[in-house]
Amino acid sequence: MLNPNLAESDQASIAQKAKQARASAQAPPAPAARQALLQQAAELLSREDAVLVAHYYVDSDLQELAEDTGGCVADSLEMARFGFTHSASTVVVAGVRFMGETAKILSPEKRVLLIEPQAECSLDLGCPADTFSTFCDQHPDRTVIVYANTSAEVKARADWVVTSSIARDLVADLSAKGEKMIWAPDRYLGDYVKRQTGADLLLWDGSCIVHEEFKGEVLSNLKKQHPRAKVLVHPESPASVIELADVVGSTTQLIVAAQQLDSSFFIVATEEGILHKMRQTAPDKTFLAAPTAGEGATCVSCARCPWMKMNDLQRLIATLQAGSSQVSIDEEIRIRAEVPIHRMVEYGRQRA
Ligand code: SF4
Repeated sequence: MLNPNLAESDQASIAQKAKQARASAQAPPAPAARQALLQQAAELLSREDAVLVAHYYVDSDLQELAEDTGGCVADSLEMARFGFTHSASTVVVAGVRFMGETAKILSPEKRVLLIEPQAECSLDLGCPADTFSTFCDQHPDRTVIVYANTSAEVKARADWVVTSSIARDLVADLSAKGEKMIWAPDRYLGDYVKRQTGADLLLWDGSCIVHEEFKGEVLSNLKKQHPRAKVLVHPESPASVIELADVVGSTTQLIVAAQQLDSSFFIVATEEGILHKMRQTAPDKTFLAAPTAGEGATCVSCARCPWMKMNDLQRLIATLQAGSSQVSIDEEIRIRAEVPIHRMVEYGRQRA
């Protein structure tokens, strides 16, 4: 069952914000300018005692800069963990707002900067804290599980925070204990977990505007053209895409699968920024983005997250120069949000 409470105006607002984000993306710098920008950004990071933590979905310049300057390129949880354990006094997040908030929740004493404070996420936007809290109040017998792609306020209302890497196992464990659950905000991932575990999950009706664009029928035709290809799918994708997958997993799990599977050709259904890391870690293999076009397609995203693509070298430099875009979270919310995040980290640690 899906949550019927999400207003149509919320959906329209998400589409409008995505459109604005797409319009604000800057053209990549010319090669000569790029080198100068990389050098300037590296010097500023050093001057500001700052470490750059980048998500797999941001552009390759930022990924390379993060690695070359002692930062990291990772999924959202590892980004927060890395910022927490690193000695730098400032953590600069190349990603979207909820990632900056998670870093701040775990490292309240550090200065956490977002390269682009307007970088949002349709899952976060599609789960407003007040509406969600009311929904939870209507189902007091259910354990509340929220995905990492949510605001600090929503995390503060949850019993558990999860990433896609542990979602299925955690839900299976809680279900085995007889627990009924609310799952938010991604309905596709929730539906996948529900089908995998048979758990009693009440699903919030949110979606990632990038992953929901992948098309099962067109992917099926592409597979026929490349019968030896392995298909890697992120579980925020529709069921018709997931059922064609050789591997369904989190960003990190898909990168590892690309290295380990005995295939030289992959079709990848997740945000196209991940292809940089896949090509870097498996240079002899060929990677093709899964189709977002085809019958009924609008190609609203074309596998590119409009908010992730707001992050670029020029904005990073401006942020470091101004010391702007600091993440701040109400301390009472932060303390409450920290509890389900630590629960998740401990669950992951026990399973490692
Ligand atoms: S790719 Fe989807 S889930 Fe990731 S930040 Fe963008 S909108 Fe959110």
